[in-house]
Amino acid sequence: MKTINLLFLILLLMVFIGCRNSESNNPDYTVYQGATLFDGTGKKIENSIIIIKEGRIETVGDENTAIPDNAEIIDVAGKYITPGLIDAHVHLSATGLFDTRPGMIKEKLVDSLNYLAAKAWTKNNIEKYYEAYLRTGVTAVYDNGGSPWTITLQESAETNLNAPHVAAAGPLITPAPERFVKSINPPVEKEMVRLTSDSLGQKVVQYNTYLGSTGIKIWRMSLDDSEFMANLKAVAEEVQNVGNKMIVHVSTLEEAKAALELGAKLLVHGVNDKIVDSEFVELIKNKNALYTPTTGSSDLWRLAMMALLGEKVEINDLNKVVDERTLRFLNNPEEYISDFDTLTVQEYIDFSLSKEYRKSDSLELANLKKLWEAGVTITVGTDAGIPGSLHGISYYNELEEMQKAGIPPAKLIIMATRNGAMAMERLDDIGTLEKGKMADLIILEKDPSEDISHMRSITHVMRGGLLRPVNEKFDK
Ligand SMILES: [Zn+2]
Repeated sequence: MKTINLLFLILLLMVFIGCRNSESNNPDYTVYQGATLFDGTGKKIENSIIIIKEGRIETVGDENTAIPDNAEIIDVAGKYITPGLIDAHVHLSATGLFDTRPGMIKEKLVDSLNYLAAKAWTKNNIEKYYEAYLRTGVTAVYDNGGSPWTITLQESAETNLNAPHVAAAGPLITPAPERFVKSINPPVEKEMVRLTSDSLGQKVVQYNTYLGSTGIKIWRMSLDDSEFMANLKAVAEEVQNVGNKMIVHVSTLEEAKAALELGAKLLVHGVNDKIVDSEFVELIKNKNALYTPTTGSSDLWRLAMMALLGEKVEINDLNKVVDERTLRFLNNPEEYISDFDTLTVQEYIDFSLSKEYRKSDSLELANLKKLWEAGVTITVGTDAGIPGSLHGISYYNELEEMQKAGIPPAKLIIMATRNGAMAMERLDDIGTLEKGKMADLIILEKDPSEDISHMRSITHVMRGGLLRPVNEKFDK
């Protein structure tokens, strides 16, 4: 009898301690229980349990995973969880409108818009883009080239739970003509450096690396320009010397091969002049290079052009993540740009709808599928910041285009998460939902492995353990 009483007392005590812990205002752990979880490596767990402690993942497992005592349990049954999405190609110092790419329409535009005001706005309002990314579900971005200050974001964004993680390349190296480069560079800094000598190229590599850049971006190849190519070789060698890596904008197969031969580790935009051959496939795999197509940007670019002509442009922004300035620009472009050549704009629109243009788009999609089938590591990048590719929401569009290429949505989840972290060189702490990694994840209403457009059903985003709904503005 006595033993039974003692056992009963012990049990009562255990229940009491258990209750106290689960009701504690300050639980050590947060547990999300019951969702179908995609961990980013290709693994799917039904009825999952994910345990988070101090902003990091403690455990991920199935329903049999032990839940610690001092834990707050959140029921997410019926929902879907993936790692936070990663945009492997953005430009944070550009607006996604024509005001930061004046050279794209006509020289005349440079006078009629306030380019410098637009550039200053991006720097002073970067938190608006940050929020657009997070509320889209994008918890990390890789800036593929821009103003020098973008490099400093890497450190400041890291500890800011209102920002995605940032990797940034900084000022770009280019063969573009002086006139264009001049129109892009603000008066007191360089965003783009025209590669006029090998020593200049080496200095850019050294300086960007010294500033902390993740990658040296080459804004397009110029195979016919032998002087540029010789200088680029010196750049590539210097990138090796300083331990950085080369990111190259390519569009033709020959350019892509040449970039890989020079040691490029990341090819962006992708081959759209012909179907890739086995030589290229072998080369990119042997060099362990990554491939970031931007399949969705051309359609968005046309929309931006149409807005310029005063046409009403519908953007699919369910959670209203796009900032007020961008919306105002899209609805009232005349307030920002006047006196441009409407005929030139119309010519661009017509060209983007032409057979020739469509052909390059379909070649790009066919190559994407072929490279995926061959086992090349592919990442998801929007080129956000260029006209039409708005920060944040363009990501869904890019995923949907990649799905159209024939990539199964379950594979796209890996490209959108783990592979993005590989591009940013952050796979050790972000990109997948595994023990010890940062607690960056999203919660969705619908299954993204059925259709990648279900990424649009996002309800919550978690960055560093902080969970927030995406349909309302962050309260700072
Ligand atoms: Zn770009």
